[in-house]
Amino acid sequence: MAEVSVRGISKAYTAGVPVLKQVDLDIHAGELFFMLGPSGCGKSTLLRILAGLVTPDAGKITFDGVDISALPPEKRRAAMVFQNYALWPNMDVFENVAFGLRTAGVKGNELKTKVMEALELVQLADFARRKVPSLSGGQQQRIALARALAVDPALLLLDEPLSNLDARLRDAMRSEIKRICALRNLTALYVTHDRQEALSMADRIGVMHKGIILEMGEPENLYDHPETAFCAQFLGDINFISGRISGKTLETEFGTFTLTGKEYGSAAAGIRPERIKITDAPLPGSFEAVLEERTFCGESCEWIFKAGSQRLCVRESAPVRRTIGNVYRLVFEEGYLLSVDSAEQN
Ligand code: ADP
Ligand code: MG
Repeated sequence: MAEVSVRGISKAYTAGVPVLKQVDLDIHAGELFFMLGPSGCGKSTLLRILAGLVTPDAGKITFDGVDISALPPEKRRAAMVFQNYALWPNMDVFENVAFGLRTAGVKGNELKTKVMEALELVQLADFARRKVPSLSGGQQQRIALARALAVDPALLLLDEPLSNLDARLRDAMRSEIKRICALRNLTALYVTHDRQEALSMADRIGVMHKGIILEMGEPENLYDHPETAFCAQFLGDINFISGRISGKTLETEFGTFTLTGKEYGSAAAGIRPERIKITDAPLPGSFEAVLEERTFCGESCEWIFKAGSQRLCVRESAPVRRTIGNVYRLVFEEGYLLSVDSAEQN
């Protein structure tokens, strides 16, 4: 594990079309860092630059303070796990996992011990002599992970590793990867477009948009207190409330409210559906709204209310029965009506 620092990394595959714009990033030793962003924002390019597979136009990368920018991939001790596993179908599991070690000159008993250790870590030690095509997608991805871990990487890079797996397997693999990263105290950079994956696994998340890291922070902080409208929307559902914002005050057709967060030249007000409460008491700041729609989700329910002309989505866990068309009282949970920067990010 290493302390990784990225400074001023820029990349354009085509002149005048920047894919990464002066990216700065510190990943702490032993940290599982997530880069979250929509398709095409530059995540894979950043990973490939860290792995040494793509040359940046500018910038510097250090591992534990040592500049590795000019080193070829095999000298960087960065191991990568890809979405499509990238295993060799004609080799058995053992040989796939041994590949990087053999390239590094590891042989004999040492080789065998390291391969088997890595296979044990992903709980596939019994599969050493199996052919790759006979394994399920989930098993293949665990082999790819074992291959990356076997070389004891300074930095583990994961590029949407679970995208090809079905939902149930994905959940299991999330905890598995998280467990292994913690157990081995790995420094890892994991890129995904899946917010659930990032929120549930990350020590810290960077939200990426059009080649820049827009915001960085711990999952809870980013989710509860995003600073940009883009980040607020990308991390979860949010109601943007129309009205007039001046400083920290939001005036709407159904009341005046105090915003949490900074003040922006171009600000929007937003609140997550689970932070709007349905109440019987005429609490200060509460307002009337008509119930229009209901979507039952099992453990929770999503209600659509209308307050004046504003549609509000409210998420309630352990929902009770309510009547469509009736008037209810809603209240914004204190501290969760956010002011976010709504300027277009370039
Ligand atoms: P992400 O992984 O976030 O989806 P990528 O880093 O793969 O984003 O791609 C960012 C942008 O760079 C996209 O517009 C993509 O089309 C472009 N791009 C990626 N790889 C290449 C390449 N080898 N040559 C030219 N353009 C590329
Ligand atoms: Mg990608």
